[in-house]
Amino acid sequence: MCSQVQFQEPRTKLWLFDTLVASTMLYGVQVWGPSIGQDGWKVMERPLVSMISRLIRAKASVPHDIIRAELAAPPIEIEALTRAVSFVHSLWDTTRDRYTRLALESSKQLALQGDTSCWFAQVTSWFQTHGFTMDRPPPFQYSLQTPLMYLMRVEITRLIRQDLIQLDTRRTWIEPTQELGTKMAFYREHLLHLTTDGFVTRPSYMDTHLSHALRCAIGQLRTSSHQLEIETGRFRGVPADSRICRLCHLEPETELHYICHCTVYYEIRGRFHCLFREGFGPLSRVMSFEDQRCLGLYLLEVHRHRDTIEESWRETVPEGDYGFLYTRHWAARGGVSRASSTELCPHSYSHYRHSHRPSSGAREI
Ligand SMILES: [Zn+2]
Repeated sequence: MCSQVQFQEPRTKLWLFDTLVASTMLYGVQVWGPSIGQDGWKVMERPLVSMISRLIRAKASVPHDIIRAELAAPPIEIEALTRAVSFVHSLWDTTRDRYTRLALESSKQLALQGDTSCWFAQVTSWFQTHGFTMDRPPPFQYSLQTPLMYLMRVEITRLIRQDLIQLDTRRTWIEPTQELGTKMAFYREHLLHLTTDGFVTRPSYMDTHLSHALRCAIGQLRTSSHQLEIETGRFRGVPADSRICRLCHLEPETELHYICHCTVYYEIRGRFHCLFREGFGPLSRVMSFEDQRCLGLYLLEVHRHRDTIEESWRETVPEGDYGFLYTRHWAARGGVSRASSTELCPHSYSHYRHSHRPSSGAREI
């Protein structure tokens, strides 16, 4: 439905996903969730990941954790765990003569006798993989036995969800159980913002009204979904130090080099002086610049300039000799196209009007 009407507002799309898709996918997860393995949860969260990926046209190879962090969306497994923990609390709250309570007690007895296939044993194992037990499930900071605590079920569930998201953020980003991959480490060092109490902060470009092209320009840089040498060189097995910028030949073409240092874009940088008023770096400061629309326009300009140089290479270098050139992946997919002139900030509008007259087929994106 969203694609038919070209609806792209990120927060509303996530809300629609949570209320319409996730709630349907997780129907009855309290019963079947404990038997799903890690691979199964990865498969189940693909609709969420592909929804966010389409918003910014990210590559399929980007780790799910990075894609979800772009909208501060927790894993689908955490949503499932929240329902399961809340369900366990509600079971213990029922009176001893209720069938559900009797079934719980019976399943617990089976688990104590060593039956690993019963529901209680599977839930216990599932909880343990996430660092807590059936005896002390979330919420961790509130005792539900306190006589003065009269929390509604929905409030308890909200507390449980927050605790589980905190746990997941710590295991994923703060104290990862295994060494982070290259993309994850880069994202954590330069782009990830966490609150002091350990929640992922949604990047501001997702909360800003931007055209699809501008959002893609920022999102693709953030998620390493670009064609810079630092990425294409990794794909070809070139050592990181040798992934030299093909345009200036001065240093490896990293995101920082591309945005802040490459001499080829010097003139464009001059027109976006507000972006570099405090200097050409660090990358985290430039990417979190308060005017995300200005940042997006700059990235579009730079991207377009790189495309133009590539085109000139293709015309001058004989076919077969330009294997080193980055592919026309995004151009072929229409990933980044021209922004309308009305979207340009005052710094660049005048130049843009004279040097980038839109073709008759140009459209707002
Ligand atoms: Zn360069």
